[in-house]
Amino acid sequence: MPRSGSCLCGALAYEIDGEFDGVWICHCSVCRKASGGIGNAILIVPRPRFRWLRGEEHRVTFAPRPSYAITRCRTCGTPLPAEEDEQHVYLTAGTLDEPLGVGVKGHLFYGSRADWSADAPHARYFVERSAGPTCAPDPVAAPPTP
Ligand SMILES: [Zn+2]
Ligand SMILES: [Zn+2]
Repeated sequence: MPRSGSCLCGALAYEIDGEFDGVWICHCSVCRKASGGIGNAILIVPRPRFRWLRGEEHRVTFAPRPSYAITRCRTCGTPLPAEEDEQHVYLTAGTLDEPLGVGVKGHLFYGSRADWSADAPHARYFVERSAGPTCAPDPVAAPPTP
């Protein structure tokens, strides 16, 4: 069964085939700016296992520097994909609409991560909104001590 993904407004949609061994998170300063968050969470998909369902022509690509381009949905601005070349599509993992079945397999540029990207002491985990019930953090997801 293929997995599907889409942008926030639904104009872009894709499917990917097969199983994966994990997601990469790139913490570099460029990915932080491009994502507006801790960095880019990337699923590397071989081209033959990726196909657009719709919206391929509905994207706009920005090239802020020669070695870095950002492709986004023209309507909602969701980055999709983070990058691509002839062999691979570097999917923004947050666009997946279904569970992947695996977690993070690696952190790139972890040495230059934002200092706020790790939990502060006594960080609280809420099941949903900050007014709701809390839960324990996933011990597997806890970052290594620097
Ligand atoms: Zn969109
Ligand atoms: Zn990066």
